[in-house]
Amino acid sequence: GLNHELHVFEALESEVRSYCRSFPTKFQKASGYQLWDTKGSVYIDFFAGAGALNYGHNEPRMKQALIQYLSGNGVAHSLDMATEAKERFLTDFNEIILKPRNMNYKVMFPGPTGTNSVESALKLARKVTGRQTIMSFTNAFHGMTLGALAVTGNKFKRAGAGVPLNHAISMPFDGYMGKDINTLEFIENYVKDSGSGVSLPAAVIVETVQGEGGINVASTAWLQGLEQLCRRYGMLLIVDDVQMGCGRTGSFFSFERSGIQPDIVCMSKSIGGYGLPMAITLMKPELDQWSPGEHNGTFRGNNLAFVTATEALRYWESSQFMEEIAAKADKVKTALDHIIQAYPELDGEHRGIGLMQGIALEQGKAERISQLAFEKGLIMETSGTNSEVIKVMPPLTIDNEGLEAGFQRFEECVNEVMS
Ligand code: PMP
Repeated sequence: GLNHELHVFEALESEVRSYCRSFPTKFQKASGYQLWDTKGSVYIDFFAGAGALNYGHNEPRMKQALIQYLSGNGVAHSLDMATEAKERFLTDFNEIILKPRNMNYKVMFPGPTGTNSVESALKLARKVTGRQTIMSFTNAFHGMTLGALAVTGNKFKRAGAGVPLNHAISMPFDGYMGKDINTLEFIENYVKDSGSGVSLPAAVIVETVQGEGGINVASTAWLQGLEQLCRRYGMLLIVDDVQMGCGRTGSFFSFERSGIQPDIVCMSKSIGGYGLPMAITLMKPELDQWSPGEHNGTFRGNNLAFVTATEALRYWESSQFMEEIAAKADKVKTALDHIIQAYPELDGEHRGIGLMQGIALEQGKAERISQLAFEKGLIMETSGTNSEVIKVMPPLTIDNEGLEAGFQRFEECVNEVMS
């Protein structure tokens, strides 16, 4: 039974473990959009490592590049020393991603995870502006360390840990106050009210689509207005593209659809490709006011990740990959609309863009669907503060067959929940 299967984890691992409870089996192998457990069951992956597997499991070209690098005794760990693998990543990232988009950013390696990138962005913004406060948004998610948590709009995640919130303010995200209310007006009124003791924020940190917060999509007009607000009040604009970057919303950077130009960009998850830990922080060159060693960390030089990250950039050499994502996104939208229409009593609301879509449901239903999906061999996670959104987040490389098989299982689950 299950208990026997997972007894080592139950006995030895902290109670904090979570995904192994949602998906209670022991995984062994993975390829593309599929996972196999030790009992031989096959699962379709509509979760993609929470956005770390945009190119799928064991992507063949990255795997080859890794094997070759390892065979040649390539340096694996190097702190922030100069290596060939890092040089290739920096060069190709500049040539393939930044230059064609007319972007000029310096690249920082803040540590292995998305949270590290967020921390570096918050610190840099405070250092450069000489201000203290960071503005973030309702339902935002930026990470698990104290600083990132202070700008995260989720009480449960704070775990009663006494997070210092005195220099963080939370403002209503686009749509939070109702469809017809422009939250930017509210925000501007607040920001300019220095007479009542409000101190101007150093920066605003925003996800263009809130992933963990329930797939809330900011409109392009709102993002453009937010950028203007930042310029008016000398606040730096930080886009947290940890989850939505690397193609999840259809373009390499999630903010491309709005044309805004963030001062600082946080990236991780799929930047390394292959699921290997890596993060980068992009900053406009004039903001690069760090002194050497002012922000460091042992694991900034994961050369295995640099090798796969460089290989991942091949997907972005032409517009073909973007076109493929757009076609799959249309398919997902059609499939979700079909489910919403075929089951009116489900009372579902479509959410999302690109390959970050889902259905918002009455509380409890999304979690039930996620459980049923697991039993049918489909890995789907929920999102939202109350886990109210069932999330479709496959690898961007999934084929039509995978999408169709996944949606067939998804619909079976909805059918069961409704009957
Ligand atoms: N920012 C966003 C938008 C995220 O979705 C996440 C992870 N879900 C993080 C930051 C934190 O990244 P990590 O878990 O790699 O520290």
